[in-house]
Amino acid sequence: MEKNQLLRKLPKMDELLNEQIVKLELAKTMRIIVIESLRESINFYRDVILKGEIKDFSEREILEDFKRRVEIKKQSNFKNVINATGVIIHTNLGRSILSENALDNVITVANNYSNLEYNLENGSRGSRYKHVEEILKRITGAEASLVVNNNAAAVMLALNTLCNGREAIVSRGQLVEIGGSFRIPEVMKFSGANLVEVGSTNRTHIEDYESAVNENTGVFLKVHTSNFKIIGFSQEVSLEELCKLSVEKRVPVIEDIGSGTLIDFSKYGFTHEPTVQESVKSGIDVVTFSGDKMLGGPQAGIIVGKKKYIDEMKKNQLTRALRVDKMTLAALEGTLRYYLDEKEAVKNIPTLHMLLSSSNRQKNRAQILKEKLESKIHTFKFTVEKDYSMVGGGSMPGEEIPTYVIKVKNNKISPEEIDKKFREAPLPIIVRIAKDEVIMDLRTIFDRDFNTLVDAFVNLSE
Ligand SMILES: *Cc1c(COP(=O)(O)O)cnc(C)c1O
Repeated sequence: MEKNQLLRKLPKMDELLNEQIVKLELAKTMRIIVIESLRESINFYRDVILKGEIKDFSEREILEDFKRRVEIKKQSNFKNVINATGVIIHTNLGRSILSENALDNVITVANNYSNLEYNLENGSRGSRYKHVEEILKRITGAEASLVVNNNAAAVMLALNTLCNGREAIVSRGQLVEIGGSFRIPEVMKFSGANLVEVGSTNRTHIEDYESAVNENTGVFLKVHTSNFKIIGFSQEVSLEELCKLSVEKRVPVIEDIGSGTLIDFSKYGFTHEPTVQESVKSGIDVVTFSGDKMLGGPQAGIIVGKKKYIDEMKKNQLTRALRVDKMTLAALEGTLRYYLDEKEAVKNIPTLHMLLSSSNRQKNRAQILKEKLESKIHTFKFTVEKDYSMVGGGSMPGEEIPTYVIKVKNNKISPEEIDKKFREAPLPIIVRIAKDEVIMDLRTIFDRDFNTLVDAFVNLSE
C-alpha cells in the first residue's frame, strides 16, 4: 500500500478507546498510562510508515504493541534481580541484602507511627540516634556513636566538626578513591579541612606525621585502603603508634575504616581485615564505617568513638543535612542485634552467610541446579566447575573465595546474547562472562532462584 493510504488507515485515539481490549485495560490501569501507551503505539506506526519500513499493518498489531507498552509502564522501575556474578557486595546490585530481623523492623516502622524521636517514658522529645546507640557501644566498645546517611557523609561530618579550617595530616599511601565517587582529597576539600600529605606512596613513618604537626593541625586522618593493596617494600604506621603520637601532641585521630567489619574474619580463614573493635581498643578517637558493606546492613555511615567528639558532631548543623532515615535506623538495629552473638550474625546476616559458607556447600548446590537444568533443557551444555567468588564493594581486595559455578555452553547462542536476554527477562539474571563462557556462581544465587533460572533457560531454548 501507498504511504498515504497507510496513514489514513491508522486508527484514531477514540476508535482505539472503544476496543474491548482497551476497555478491559482501563478497568484495571490508570487512564493516563493507557492513553500514553495508545499514543505511543499510534506514533510508532506513523513513524515506520513514513520511513517506508512497512507495507501493511492490522489494528490487532497496533493493539498488541499497545499491550506491551502498557505492561512495561505498569512495572516498577525497581526490579529484583538474580545475582549470579559471585560478587557478594555488588554496589550496582544494591550491596547487602537485609536479614530477617532488619526487614521485620523496617516494615513495622514504615507501616506505623513509632517512637522515632519520642521518649515514651517522659512523654517528651527523644533522639532518633538512641535506638542504635547502646547496641553500637556494646558491640564496638566505644563511648558513643552516631549514624548518618553513608560513610562518605560520616567522614565529611567528622572532618568538618574536628578540622574545619585546620590541617588534616594523611599518609600519601591512603589518599584513596572508592568506586569513582568517593575520593579522600575531594571529601576533605568539601569538609573544610586542609589536606597535608606526608610520607610516600609506599612508605610512611611515624616521624613523617610528627614533623608535620604545627599549631594549625586539626586531626590525623587514617584511611583504610579498602580496595587495593600495596605489596612489596611498603610500610604503614600502626594504630598504636599513631594513637601514642596523638596523645603526645594532643591531636585527635579519625579513622575511615571503610567496610567496618565487626567480626574477625581471619578466624574463618580470610586475610585479616581490621575490625572496628581493634581500632576503638587502640584508642582511635573517631572511627567511621559503612552499614551496607561487610556489616551486612542498610546503607548508613556509622561513627563511633570518644563521647566528647561525637557530642560535638551531634551539635553540628551538617548532621541535620546528613540525617539518617527511620527505615535505615530500623534496618540497622535489626542487623546489629544479631552481632550480640557472633554465631547468630554469621547464620542470619545474608552477606556474612554468603561470605562464609563453604565451597563444598556450593558444589552440592551446583549439582542440584545442574540436574534441574538438564532435566528440562537439552540444547545447552552445563558443567560444574571450581572457581572464585569476590567480596566486592571495595572490600578485601584480592581475596579469592573458592566456590563452584555452572558454566553454560550453546553452539547457536553467544554468551553476549545469553547475557542480554537474561537482563531483559521479567526477573533479570545478571551473569558473568569470562573466556567466552557464561558463568553462574552459586554463592550469590539463592535456592529460591533455582526455578526461575530453569525457566529462563527454557525460554531461551524456545
Ligand atoms: C566504601 C568506602 C567509603 C564510602 O562508603 P559509603 O558508605 O559508600 O559512602 C569510604 N571510605 C572507604 C575506605 C571505603 O571503603
